[in-house]
Amino acid sequence: VVEFAGVVKRFGTHLALSEFALTLHAGELVALLGPSGSGKTTALRVLAGLESTDGGRILINGDDVSGVPTSRRDMGMVFQSYSLFPHLSAGENVEFGLRMRRVPAAERRSRAAEALDLVGLDTHYDRFAHQLSGGQQQRVALARALVTRPRVLLLDEPLSALDAKVRVSLREQIRRIQTELGITTLFVTHDQDEALAVADRVAVMQGGRIEQVGTPEELYTRPATPFIADFVGLSN
Ligand code: ATP
Repeated sequence: VVEFAGVVKRFGTHLALSEFALTLHAGELVALLGPSGSGKTTALRVLAGLESTDGGRILINGDDVSGVPTSRRDMGMVFQSYSLFPHLSAGENVEFGLRMRRVPAAERRSRAAEALDLVGLDTHYDRFAHQLSGGQQQRVALARALVTRPRVLLLDEPLSALDAKVRVSLREQIRRIQTELGITTLFVTHDQDEALAVADRVAVMQGGRIEQVGTPEELYTRPATPFIADFVGLSN
């Protein structure tokens, strides 16, 4: 269980997170949806420990993680732009996270192969990252995020750089894998369709705080504010 409790984050005078409150239950996929500048990425980054906070608390399974460095928060992350090392193979990219943890070579290789198998790229272990399509690169990035068996998966617009067809098939694959592993997941997106299609619950943000949290159906049928009705309705 991940809990943001009244989290505040400022950049200079700008309030990026304003008493931000959200709970992710164990094993659920929550989409954080909102317009550009609403604070989605900031929320993900403070959870990852990539940004400090100016108030409130972040709890993981009840423990306050403030002061805990990113490397010890036990999270897997995938970002929008391909962050693979182009001169390494897919397998070596996936192994990278394990190398940092001093996992022995043979075990690294078998776990990386297993992670690539999970994303359907078991035959691509030796392929250089730069030889892969955008969608394949994001699948390798997902394998790399999962190979350490993190307790939380953070996805920041993982599909935005891909073309429409790949986006839909990859979001379905992400959802399948997420369900299979039962991993608690925060999925940041500005795309209403995407959020409503993949999430157990959708949290709609505006101006640094949550405007409404609910299942896709609840948001559709009982939008709490005109902003939500308008924002969710845009997907049609
Ligand atoms: P987008 O979909 O455009 O990425 P977002 O909802 O993810 O938007 P954030 O990136 O979290 O929004 O940014 C929230 C606000 O904080 C924005 O107004 C942004 O300009 C500001 N901000 C974010 N990071 C910084 C930073 N490092 N320094 C200064 N301001 C920042």
